[in-house]
Amino acid sequence: MANQGQSVLVVEDESSIASFVALYLKNAGYRIQAAGTGREALERVASEKPDLIVLDLMLPDIDGLEVCRRVRQSSDVPILMLTARDEDVDKIIGLEVGADDYLTKPFNPRELVARVKSILRRSVPERREVQTKQIKHGDLEIDVGRREVLVAGKEVQLAPKEFDLLWELLDHKGLVLTRDQLLERVWGYTFAGDTRTVDVHVRQLRRKLGEASPIVTVWGVGYKVAAARDAAVKA
Ligand code: CA
Repeated sequence: MANQGQSVLVVEDESSIASFVALYLKNAGYRIQAAGTGREALERVASEKPDLIVLDLMLPDIDGLEVCRRVRQSSDVPILMLTARDEDVDKIIGLEVGADDYLTKPFNPRELVARVKSILRRSVPERREVQTKQIKHGDLEIDVGRREVLVAGKEVQLAPKEFDLLWELLDHKGLVLTRDQLLERVWGYTFAGDTRTVDVHVRQLRRKLGEASPIVTVWGVGYKVAAARDAAVKA
C-alpha cells in the first residue's frame, strides 16, 4: 500500500467524530495519532511530526485557525480543516491561515479519506517535477521552481493551492478547464468532489492579483486564461 506507515494526526474534541474519522483512516492504512485540544495538537505536531493533520475548527482551548497558524510558523505539514460553517472557508485556505484543504461538516468519511490520500500524494513529489518552468503573462510572472508569483515585478503571496490552480490555468492558456478537471489536476480528486473549492480559490486569486488576474469565468463550464493584455502599456 502506497500510504503505509504515513501518520495522520486527528485533532477533534468531539470523541464520536474523532473516533469515526480515526477508524476510516486506519482502515485506509494510516497510523493515527489523536489530540482533543489545540494545545495537545501543537505538542504532538512538535514531538511526533505527523505526515498530515486533520484539524477541527472548533476546539475547547485554542481554535483550529490559530492552531493552523502556529503550525505554519514552523512546518509545511499538510492540513485538512474540518468546519461546520461555509463562511470560514475563504479564511481557512487563504494564506493567512494556510490550510491545504477543508471539509464542511457533516462530511462523508469516504470523501475525507479520498482527500487525505490526494493531499499526501501531491504534497511531496510535485514540487520537484517541474523545476525551471516559468510563464510570463502580461504583468504576471510565475516561477514554478521557486513557487513565486510576481505582478509588475512585485511578489504576491499565494497559498499553495492558489499557486497550483493559477499554474494549471496558465499552463493551458486559451483552453477552458471545467471545475471537475481543475479539482482533479490541482487537488487530485478522481471523482466529482466539492467544486466550490475551485470557486473559492479563483476568488482569492482575483482578489490578490487584482487587474493582473488572467482568469476568465466561462459561464456554466469552468475557467480559462484570457489572452495577455499588452504588457508594455503603462499608465
Ligand atoms: Ca470540535
